[in-house]
Amino acid sequence: MDIVTRFAPSPTGELHLGHAHSALFAWRRARAAGGRFLLRIEDIDIRRCKREFEAATLVDLAWLGIDWDGDVRRQSEHFVDYGRVLDGLARRGLVYPCFCSRSDIAASAGAPQGPDGPLYPGTCRGRSASERKALIEAGREFCLRLDCAHAAAEAGPYSFTDETRGRVEGQPLLFGDVVIARKDTPTSYHLSVTVDDHLQGVTLVTRGVDLLPSTHVHVLLQRLLGYETPLYAHHRLLTDENGRRYAKRDRALTLRALRESGASPEEVRRRAA
Ligand code: GLU
Repeated sequence: MDIVTRFAPSPTGELHLGHAHSALFAWRRARAAGGRFLLRIEDIDIRRCKREFEAATLVDLAWLGIDWDGDVRRQSEHFVDYGRVLDGLARRGLVYPCFCSRSDIAASAGAPQGPDGPLYPGTCRGRSASERKALIEAGREFCLRLDCAHAAAEAGPYSFTDETRGRVEGQPLLFGDVVIARKDTPTSYHLSVTVDDHLQGVTLVTRGVDLLPSTHVHVLLQRLLGYETPLYAHHRLLTDENGRRYAKRDRALTLRALRESGASPEEVRRRAA
């Protein structure tokens, strides 16, 4: 089987050394095996993503010597794809509208914690169809949540393979009733990543270990949607000399700043290795 990897940055800032590490990791795996390396721009958050950061991303990657195959897929141009999948999940009764605000959820003291904070207490799960209709008609904003217990029952037990960790047992309830379409965007990170990795034929998903918990949701969605599960490689996160993760706030370590201070692509590749 041909190996297909991808790098999927969100254009909310400039790329830094941590991104270079991640991009090189995916690119090398594809190139070493004579496979394909894809570039995907994850810009579903239209308010935070900027075209200038997207353009800068392409410049930075090219400067580093990273080339990609085929067209760049820009998620904001594919809301129709995600909407179609969402409709299918809704028809199967696997998602429900949630009208709660952040503060409603924060107020539900004692809720167990998930990887992203308190798990959703399920307030809107049991609403009747007429109640939902009335709230929507009254103009109340809502997101869509996955009914994870229902989804787990439909999907059955599942697992995935991480290259360094081996077989990982799927935990469908890890994030609780996770948001699958946001209030402001007709999709979510989890949904669009899962749909795109499938549509693009990605066989090896490489990304930072900070996203390992999310993989439990993605593989659950793959099961529900009848998609193949790719192989995963969650790599360590690059840290600075103080052991801190690189972040968008580290201006001095953006690839552009390094380039402008005279660093060569080889030097940056070495630092990012
Ligand atoms: N867009 C995500 C990020 O920039 C990465 C998505 C993924 O690799 O699954 O953190």
